[in-house]
Amino acid sequence: MPDDPLLILEGVERVFGGGRKLLGGHAPSVHAVQDLSLRIRRGETLGVVGESGCGKTTVARMIVGLDHPTGGAVTLDGTPLSDLGQKALARRIQYVFQDPIASLNPRKTIRKSLEAPLRHLLGLDAEARAARLESLLAAVNLAPEFLDRYPHEFSGGQAQRIGIARALAAEPALLVLDEPVSALDVSVQAQVLTLLDDLKDRFGLTYVFISHDLSVVETISDRVAVMYFGRVVEIGPSRQVFGAPRHPYTHLLLRSAPAPGKKSQVPEDANTELPDPYNPPPGCAFRARCPRATDLCATDRPKLDATPHTSACHHPHLPEDDRPRRPNS
Ligand code: SF4
Repeated sequence: MPDDPLLILEGVERVFGGGRKLLGGHAPSVHAVQDLSLRIRRGETLGVVGESGCGKTTVARMIVGLDHPTGGAVTLDGTPLSDLGQKALARRIQYVFQDPIASLNPRKTIRKSLEAPLRHLLGLDAEARAARLESLLAAVNLAPEFLDRYPHEFSGGQAQRIGIARALAAEPALLVLDEPVSALDVSVQAQVLTLLDDLKDRFGLTYVFISHDLSVVETISDRVAVMYFGRVVEIGPSRQVFGAPRHPYTHLLLRSAPAPGKKSQVPEDANTELPDPYNPPPGCAFRARCPRATDLCATDRPKLDATPHTSACHHPHLPEDDRPRRPNS
C-alpha cells in the first residue's frame, strides 16, 4: 500500500490535570498520551491494541475532535484538525461507538437518528433523505422497515449495523471504530467484521480500529500499532507484528490472549500493574514487567525508528535473519 497519508498525528500528547490550584501550586497531571506520531494511510485499516488505560480511546477521541491534544498536531489531508470547523470535521471523520444501543437516542426512531446528519451535514431535502436512508440500510444489510423502529427493538448486531449506517450517512473518508464488536456474540462479531470489510472497499474508506481483542485486530488490520502507557511501542504490518513480534509487551499480549484449548503462558504471579500515571518512571515504562530489562532500560527511553516494522525497545526480539551473527559462525 503506498504511503499516501490521510491523517497524520505528529508528536501528539494529551495531559489531564496539572492546572493551578486555588490555594497555590499545581494539581497533579496524568500524561494519557505522549509523543505519539502516526501516519494513517488512505485506504488502510490501522489496528490499535493495548490494555485498558493505555491511551487508545483518548487517541480515538482526539482524532474525531471529541477531545483535543495538549501538544503536537493532527492534520487531515494537510489541514490541522483545529482549523476545520466541527461540521467540516464531521463530514470527513466519523466515530463508531462500542455500545451501539447506548449511542442511539432511545426516544427516536432510527429514521430520526439517521436523518440528522443527512439534514445538517449534507443539506438533503426530504425526498433525497428518504432515498438515502433506504440505501444506507441496504448497505448494512437491514430491511427498510427497520427505519421506523426504536433502538430497544434491535439485537446487538442489528444495533451496531445501525451505528455503522449512521457513521456512513455523512459520506466520511475515515471511520474511527472504538471496540465496535466487543459487546457482540462471537458469531455476530464475524458478520459485522465482514460487513466492515465490504463497506471499506465499496466506499473507499480508511479505518482506525481500536480493540483489546488481538484476534479481531489481526483479522481486520493491514497494520497494527501496539500501545503501552500512552505510547506506541510497536508498529508494523499486521502479519509481521503478529507473526514475529519484537517488543516484549507485544509478546506478553500474545501469550496472554485466550484461545480454545490453550493455557495462558503467563505465570499467575506475573506483574500486571501499569506504572503510576502520576509518577511515571524514567527510561522504559514496561521495565518492571519485562524479562529482558537491563540497566540501560532504567535510564534511557527507547524510541521507534522509521522502518516499516519497528519497536521502541533496547533489546527487541529479532527474527533469525536480523540477529547479529557471531564472528566465524
Ligand atoms: Fe524491556 Fe528494556 Fe525493551 Fe523496555 S527497553 S521493553 S525494559 S528490554
